[in-house]
Formats: sequence, C-alpha cells, structure tokens
Amino acid sequence: MISRKMDGIVRSGSAIRAMFEEGKRLAQIYGKENVFDFSLGNPSVPAPSKVNEAIKSIVDSVDAMTLHGYMTNSGYESVRQTVANNLNRRFNTDYSARNIVMTVGAAGGLNVALKAIVDPGDEIIVFAPYFGEYDNYISNVDGKAVVIPPNPPSFQPNIDALEKAVGVRTKAVIVNSPNNPTGAVYGAETLKSLGDLLRRKSKEKGEAIYLISDEPYREIIYDGNKCEYVADYYDDTIVGYSYSKSLSLPGERIGYLAISDKAEDSENLLSACNVATRILGFVNAPSLQQLVVERCIDEKTDVSAYDKNRRLLYSALTQYGFECVKPQGAFYLFVKCPIEESVFIAKAKEYNLLLVGGKSFACEGYVRIAYCVDYDMIERALPAFKKLAEATIGNR
Ligand code: PLP
Repeated sequence: MISRKMDGIVRSGSAIRAMFEEGKRLAQIYGKENVFDFSLGNPSVPAPSKVNEAIKSIVDSVDAMTLHGYMTNSGYESVRQTVANNLNRRFNTDYSARNIVMTVGAAGGLNVALKAIVDPGDEIIVFAPYFGEYDNYISNVDGKAVVIPPNPPSFQPNIDALEKAVGVRTKAVIVNSPNNPTGAVYGAETLKSLGDLLRRKSKEKGEAIYLISDEPYREIIYDGNKCEYVADYYDDTIVGYSYSKSLSLPGERIGYLAISDKAEDSENLLSACNVATRILGFVNAPSLQQLVVERCIDEKTDVSAYDKNRRLLYSALTQYGFECVKPQGAFYLFVKCPIEESVFIAKAKEYNLLLVGGKSFACEGYVRIAYCVDYDMIERALPAFKKLAEATIGNR
C-alpha cells in the first residue's frame, strides 16, 4: 500500500497535467489542429542550434570516463565557475564556483534548497498565485506553506500582508519573478521593501529568514523591461535558476542554485545543498547538460516569438471583453473568469480550449493561458475565444 501522504497527492493530481492529457484525448477525436491546448508551459521555441552542436561535440571530444562518471555532487568545477562568471558579468555579483550548485532544473534546485534549510513544522511563505508544485516541495520536507492572498490587478507581492504573515517559525519566503502564472515582473521598489522587511524580521528572529528566488523565466521579459536581480536586494537569497525555459531544455533537467558568501551561514548552507543533492537521489545534475551549459552560457532563446504570441492574445482577448493584466514576462496570461471558474473551464472545453484554473495556483476565479505555443494555433483559437466571451461575459 502506498503512503497516505502520496495517496492524497496522487488523488488530487495535477490539473495542469490532467488538462494536457485531456488535450491529447480531444486531439484524437477532433484532430490536432482543432484542439487548442494552452495548458502546459512547454517552450515552443526550439533550443538554440548551438545546443545540439555542443552536445555532438562534447560526446565526440570529452573523455568517456569523465563524461559518464560520478563527480562532486555540486557539479563540475569549471561549469560552476562559468555560471559564476556569467552572473558576475551581468549582475555585478562576486560569485565563484563554490557559490554555485548545479541542479536538476528549478524543481530539483527548490527541493535541494528546502531540504537544506527546513526543519519539520517550519513555515515557508508563498505569494498567491504561485506555481502549485511548491506545495509538494514544501510538504516533502514536512514544512508548512503559509499563503499570502493574491494582490490583483498588479499581482506584485503584498509587503504589508507579508509583514503580518512572518512569525517565529518562518524559515523562508519564496518569490518568482517573472511570475508563473501572472506574467508579473517584480519591480525595484517592491524588492527593496521586501529586502528591508526581511532584514528587520530576521534581526527580530535572531537568524536569517531566507529568500528563495525561483527564476526560471528571468530571461523571458518584454517591452525592453529589466528583470531585477533579486539577490541584489537581500543577501540571504538563494537563487534558483533553470535552463528549462531560457534555453528550451525542460526535458534535460538542468539549472543551478547560487548562494552568495554574504548569506548567513553560507558555507554550511552550500555544504547542505551539496549533500541534499546527493541524498535526494539526484546525486549530481546531468553531466552532459552541465557541459552544454558551459559551452552555451551566452546563448539566448528567441523571446520575440513569445512576445508576438503575447501581443496577439492579449489584444484579442481584451477586445472580446476579457479582463487581464498585460504580462511583462514569462509566457502566461492570467485571465479573470467572467463566471465561476470550474464552469468557465468546462465551457472553454466545449470549444476545445484547454485552460488551467487559477485554483491550481491558489487563486480561484482566474484561468492561466500558456502562450508558449505556435502562433498559428493562437490564430486558429481566436474564434473559439470569441465564442467563449459571447457565451460567458454576458452571463456575469
Ligand atoms: N518554478 C516555476 C515558477 C515554474 O513555472 C517551473 C516550471 O514550469 C518550475 C519551477 C520547474 O522548472 P524546471 O523544469 O526547471 O524544474
């Protein structure tokens, strides 16, 4: 018999994955081109060609015993130094290899970070709406998620609410900018207030409250905006990064954690992350993909393709009467449901539109539209969105 904890998780399932499966089922009935699956954040822009070239050249040139062997749990020294140099150049930081732990994507990194810092019963504060998997990651380490209610329409973190939520058991706060699911990008003022508050609260507590900055969308940003480097605003930040979105490599499972020497207990924290990587069963991040990162560190995804999708979808949906804030980053549009969320999602499905409910992100009354899809699909889906608007907006 499986554990009660897992039984609960399996039963509640993932609405995102369920919708993705539903999309495949509907495609068999109506044909792939007539089903509009906006459920999954799977990048639609291919990885830069240099990635494949690097893979071939690594396989051909790197000694097999090195390429396929075990290594330090935190990853290849040279790869970590390359990541450190890249961050230093771009964000004026002073990392070196020892500050970087290569991880199995952002998901692996978050699990490692939480394993390193959470004792059972410790509280981790999250701002709704948030990536629903955080709940599972926090429960994996017997932590307790404390959820700050959504702050529409800007969806910036509500610092006053955070002030009230921080307690003696608060171990960390998780932020995610650019945000999944809202596309909000946290501004300098917000991050400054956040840093000031956490410094004050850490002082009161007598130990650091860590800020975990989940940054898989850091490079996916629009309108010439700048994505602030969160760690600039607070020394006790654990940066979690992933190449899943920025290099379109979600299946390859590669990312890193960056922890500055300025963070409290940084040496122990880095050692704990190193060991957590091993004992969580990752052992180390994939060897080949680490070497790909080393060779492709300056490669970029074609954000203009996502931007084109964003513009089309945002202008069409708002024209049809839907309410949503124009996303500034990531590749999601968070739309207010004109009617009850589950009824709206079911109605959308009648038009073969697959959307994920805000409930999956602790923010009921919204849907998330992942627009990391082909532009053509959005064009084909617009008549369905128009019908959905006509069927629901009049019925508020
Ligand atoms: N964090 C956020 C906010 C995400 O949206 C995702 C994936 O969609 C992840 C973490 C996990 O990313 P990865 O594939 O790098 O594990």
